[in-house]
Amino acid sequence: MFSDKSVATEVANPKDWSPTSWKDFPIKQLPPYPDEEELQKAYEELRKNPPLITSWEVEALKNKLANVAAGRSFLLQGGDCAESFAGCKSPKIVNLLKVLLQMSFILIHEMETPIVRIGRIAGQYAKPRSNDFEIVDGEKIHNYRGDLINSINPTREDRMPDPQRLLKGYEKAALTLNFLRGLADEGFADLHHPEYWELDFMRENKYYKEYEEMVNSIQKAVSFMETITPNQFNTVQKVNLYTSHEALNLHYDSAQTRQVPRREGWYNLSAHMVWLGNRTRNIDEAHVEYLRGIRNPIGIKIGPNYDIDETLNLINKLNPVHEQGKIVLITRFGKDEVEKGLPDLIQRIKHEGMPVVWSCDPMHGNTFATDDDIKTRNFDDILSEMRKTFAIHRDQGSYLGGVHLELTGDNVTECVGGAKGLHEGELHHNYETYCDPRLNYEQSLEMAFLVAKEWKK
Ligand code: PEP
Ligand code: MN
Repeated sequence: MFSDKSVATEVANPKDWSPTSWKDFPIKQLPPYPDEEELQKAYEELRKNPPLITSWEVEALKNKLANVAAGRSFLLQGGDCAESFAGCKSPKIVNLLKVLLQMSFILIHEMETPIVRIGRIAGQYAKPRSNDFEIVDGEKIHNYRGDLINSINPTREDRMPDPQRLLKGYEKAALTLNFLRGLADEGFADLHHPEYWELDFMRENKYYKEYEEMVNSIQKAVSFMETITPNQFNTVQKVNLYTSHEALNLHYDSAQTRQVPRREGWYNLSAHMVWLGNRTRNIDEAHVEYLRGIRNPIGIKIGPNYDIDETLNLINKLNPVHEQGKIVLITRFGKDEVEKGLPDLIQRIKHEGMPVVWSCDPMHGNTFATDDDIKTRNFDDILSEMRKTFAIHRDQGSYLGGVHLELTGDNVTECVGGAKGLHEGELHHNYETYCDPRLNYEQSLEMAFLVAKEWKK
């Protein structure tokens, strides 16, 4: 599933760090577990389990991200806002893989550039929240923080942080990854049959003709590849999909942080890439302390009101040796803030000569609640931030190397707009997310097409 062409690079291997040194620092967004002994037991059990991924895969991904930073490739990162344990089942996983692959085919075809695919999958089970508590039937209970920590069921007991969920999360991630590897390695039928792509929704869209031609052309390319290289050099069949999640529940991540033979340093072997959330990136706090010691590529979410010097210090702390492919800066300003926030950041990073992959998350700065209090996002707002971000990078002579999207391969109704013009009154039809609203299958394909159009400008 993953190829490795790693090269030796200088390793940041801090001496005053351990997988648990974060425990000496203040921590945000992780409520204490009620039973410390039970937590320790679960932690020790998790620590003994085999890793989900390998250090070779991590290094291979870093190399690919170094190519993205150099402008030779493009990153597509996407998946659920919050994966749920209940969602660990066949159609959901197949559908996500399918939409990510189809999106990447659109990008490859239009941009003639290799695509690095990273799913928010197989471990995206922990969520930061604006409010620690909520009131349900007059009772103050913990807010839902993702299946890795507590249950979405709004009772006092089910919302208590439960250490057994660390083990359950590991198991669900392992099951998900096992299936993904199987699908990616051998015959994922839909991949070979672009005619199965469900495009009818685009019929009303002004780009339909262009879109249809593109799919026909992808289809021809796939058949051609299969004819000239049957069974042996089948690059279509062997697809790479890397995994990622927010490193939020540090008990989960640190229990799976290991040293491996013949390699320096420590690897988080629960996911190929992890990211630092916008709310937990304080330089003197636990999440940054944990992340500074691992060898994986690290995403950093950056939203409005960031402090520029602090941000540069943060990047230096996480990547003191300026390793290529190590840092992915994921900006999520919102369509109205991006012009204010992004240009300075680009200029300073350039000036300091920091090697980063620039990625745009056009989702998290564009969330709003409808009059009926349903959390949603408008396709046009998402598109607007994406377009502005491309334009700003172009102006600054910088390369926007990726997009970070919350999406699903399922037919949900969570974001308004898109070719079908989903409106607010339809949101309740199939609103399934455990946290933020995601692009559905059709909106995701449409977005891929529009990203490619923007990239080519
Ligand atoms: C997320 O990616 O789901 C998230 C919470 O993002 P951010 O940290 O950017 O708000
Ligand atoms: Mn989210």
